[in-house]
Order: sequence, then structure tokens, then C-alpha cells
Amino acid sequence: MSTTAETGPLPAPEPDPNTEDAPFWAGTAEGRLMLPRCTRCATVIWYPRQFCSECSGQDVEWFEASGRGTIYARTVVHRAQGPWRPAAPYVIAYVELEEGPRVLTNIIEVDPDTVQVGQEVRAVFVAAGPHKIVRFTPEAGA
Ligand SMILES: [Zn+2]
Repeated sequence: MSTTAETGPLPAPEPDPNTEDAPFWAGTAEGRLMLPRCTRCATVIWYPRQFCSECSGQDVEWFEASGRGTIYARTVVHRAQGPWRPAAPYVIAYVELEEGPRVLTNIIEVDPDTVQVGQEVRAVFVAAGPHKIVRFTPEAGA
């Protein structure tokens, strides 16, 4: 889209994986959205960690999520600071994943003014140093 061509790319903050979220980052490196699910109450856990915020269970199983979701809330940032400044305008959004969790993220590869609540999006994986982070883009034809 022509309107995004005028702006710089969004900065991609480099994650610092630890033992709690290592399976998540191993997944994103392969273009897969890996999430933990509590084996006791089946809650899908976000942010990824080996601990269930619902029942305090510490036994989780990792599975590959669909990468699909819908926009629950969004805002367009027109004035940003520091390294984010050249990227404005850009979209910050909560995406509700098919599996349940709401993820704070950016919606990319789209004209920011066209992004709407309820819009269907899918995960895309963006290089951040030696890792890849997850952002979302509208489903084609959605
Ligand atoms: Zn649980």
C-alpha cells in the first residue's frame, strides 16, 4: 500500500529468551506460533511461561497455535518517540487469538487507517536480531 511506503519499518525489539519462554522463541524462529496450555485446566497461557495464571498449575504442554485471530482493540500511533518515530503512523493492537489469549502486538503490512476492530489477522514473523518476533497482518481478502 502506498501510504505505508512513506514510513520507515517498525523497530523490532530483540527478545531475551529464558527457560520459561524458550519453546516460544524456538517456534517463532521456524515461523510457528508455539503456546503453552495448562494440563490441569486447559487454559492457553499468554505471555508464554511454564505457569498457569488461572489455577497456578505448573505443568504445561506446548502446542502449535493456528496463528489466526481477530483484532479486539486497536489504535493508530501518529507521533512516536526515539527509534519508533520514523515508523509512524503505525498500529498497536490487541489481537484475540483463536485459542483465546489477547496479545498486545503491531498490525503491519497494511494502511493503518484501514485496520478495524473485528478484522481477521494472521501471525507473521519478523527478524529481531538472531530471533523472530510475532506481529500480525490482515488475512488476504478479509
Ligand atoms: Zn491451569
